[in-house]
Amino acid sequence: MEQNLFSRYGLSKEILEALTMLRYHAPTKVQEQVIPEVLDGNDIVVKSKTGSGKTAAFGVPLCEKVDWDENHPQAIVLEPTRELAVQVSNELFHIGRRKRLKVPAVFGGFPIDKQIRTVKQKSHIVVGTPGRTLDLIGREALKSDKVKYVVIDEADLMFDMGFLDDVKKVLSLLPEKRVTMLFSATIDENVEKLSQNYMKEAKDIYLESKTLTVDQIEQIAYEVENEEKFSCLMDVLVQENPKSCMIFCATRDMVNVLYRQLRKAKVRCCMLHGLVDQKERLRVIEDFREGRFYYLIATEVAARGIDFEEISHVINYDFPTSKESYVHRIGRTGRNGKSGKAISFVRQEDIKMKQSVERYTNVPIQMAEKVRFSDNDSERAEKEKEFRKRQQQKMQPKKSKGAVFQKDITRLSIGGGRKSKLRAGDIVGTICSMEGVTAEDIGIIDVRDSITYVEILNKKGKSVYEQLQEKTIKGKRRKVKMR
Ligand code: AMP
Repeated sequence: MEQNLFSRYGLSKEILEALTMLRYHAPTKVQEQVIPEVLDGNDIVVKSKTGSGKTAAFGVPLCEKVDWDENHPQAIVLEPTRELAVQVSNELFHIGRRKRLKVPAVFGGFPIDKQIRTVKQKSHIVVGTPGRTLDLIGREALKSDKVKYVVIDEADLMFDMGFLDDVKKVLSLLPEKRVTMLFSATIDENVEKLSQNYMKEAKDIYLESKTLTVDQIEQIAYEVENEEKFSCLMDVLVQENPKSCMIFCATRDMVNVLYRQLRKAKVRCCMLHGLVDQKERLRVIEDFREGRFYYLIATEVAARGIDFEEISHVINYDFPTSKESYVHRIGRTGRNGKSGKAISFVRQEDIKMKQSVERYTNVPIQMAEKVRFSDNDSERAEKEKEFRKRQQQKMQPKKSKGAVFQKDITRLSIGGGRKSKLRAGDIVGTICSMEGVTAEDIGIIDVRDSITYVEILNKKGKSVYEQLQEKTIKGKRRKVKMR
């Protein structure tokens, strides 16, 4: 088998194995520059295009550096939204999977008690939104004295007024001797200036590029009036027949309206905005990621960082009102070297902003001739048939990224938990007394009130399960089930 090129950084066997399982065979450009710096313990400010592999750029060295035996978090990653916190925690969890790292995501809008319990139970890296992270530090659920690394992701947004106070407070509560990292696709002078207050001689890593957007994204625009937007969208969808597409609107109301219109037109879609119930938001993202829907209609909330594999098209149904937003929105396609197409609807009043975007990105957005199908046009009939065919196709949900790790892992549930004073150590003790099983075969242990979940690795799940039918844990035989 070909050598994994990440091996040049002297990473541990567990991290290299996980990278190979994730099919990360060679570092991306930003990873090449960032990984050695973090391994050396240097502060950095990183500007790199969306989809360039920024998460793993800090994720790989963080997962490498944290010490599994330490019970308190050693790294904190701050993210602006809960969706991003979940996504980034998943990515780090996968990278640290073979090392059995715990990487909880913490964010507002969900009961804090559960998050307190999770963070307290040996967690290595905590990924959170600033407010909730601060709250957890304040309640001493998240002990900050062992934190050696902090990442401020989407830094330009984090240094924006809405977040700045909480971010500042979190930083002030962390040990001074630490490594601080800032990441974003769009870093301006303001971020640079602010960052100097929190970092020591940070090294700037700016991935040089003439343009701000990814070259593989074809960018076009249609001039439209408000009233023709929907019919124009239908024409575009029929013409392009996108396999997977995000459609951005300016407001929540517009998302609701467009969602209803598209459903009425029998187009399979889902929607995402700030007023969609928290749990529903995470579910929508999962469903879209797994390919259960082709089209996601969203507000700005989904424009940042969210990594959906293989989005072929981004449509700006409403043209963005800031140039940065355009860059982030269209960056949902053309990720990780793939190609993509960004289509924008531009009204008269959007023309100035379009020009401002073009100056900012240094890429022209070509005005295109509108798709014109007359109703009895046979070309439209043909295209419409293809489009409808795809809409009716039964979907084959895509496997999640973490699925590769699951095949060698068995999850067992064990009767007993915190209420009966059962501890992770009791379970480790019993399992390690079994023949042919060592602590290395035990994955994550999650002790709840009356039940405990434990992962058994390396295909030893069945054997451990069978032996647990006879053995006792903390002096008692327990009800054990394979999940
Ligand atoms: P990010 O910019 O961190 O959102 O990453 C963009 C996408 O690239 C994600 O789907 C990652 O899983 C993927 N990715 C990151 N690093 C690598 C790598 N070295 N090789 C292949 N894919 C990668």
